[in-house]
Amino acid sequence: MADVEIFEQEVIEFVNEIVPANWNVLSMSEEPKSFPAALNIYLWFPGGIEELEECGDTPMGEAEPIRYYNCMPGSKGMTIGITTIRVYPIAVILGWAATIIHELAHIAVARWESCKAGKSLRDKSGPYSGIINQEPAHGGTFQRAYRTIIHRAERVYGTTPYINLCKSDLEGYKERQGGTP
Ligand SMILES: [Zn+2]
Repeated sequence: MADVEIFEQEVIEFVNEIVPANWNVLSMSEEPKSFPAALNIYLWFPGGIEELEECGDTPMGEAEPIRYYNCMPGSKGMTIGITTIRVYPIAVILGWAATIIHELAHIAVARWESCKAGKSLRDKSGPYSGIINQEPAHGGTFQRAYRTIIHRAERVYGTTPYINLCKSDLEGYKERQGGTP
């Protein structure tokens, strides 16, 4: 395996330890898993920054809206969700862990938003962006999700420098009431 593939595989294993059991983190070359309420999260390391991050805070990472697919029509519950986290080169250098934890919080909000919409786990409604109407991208809902993901990571890996980075990132959003940057 090339060095870059080993790195990607290590990052995927790292993230899978943090996320809830029905979230499946995988590489771009893998097939999404299908089980009730599965949420597949591709980690993509594009070579260049093609677009600025939608929420405008940093160009380090970006989470795409969650899409739901009815992969086995007629079979109840076998709907899969798919999204992608882009991890840009600058984040690989400066801190991919903090970047991914931040983007996972956007995905948690999108997941919550889709569950609130009700039918989303059974049909193709969506996509869900992780941005709640009437709230800034990093508003209260995002901050609660971010805190939860940070705690999950801290339980597994301890209070590391990237955990502290995430905590100060979160504090910054609280002070700015979720406004960006
Ligand atoms: Zn963000």
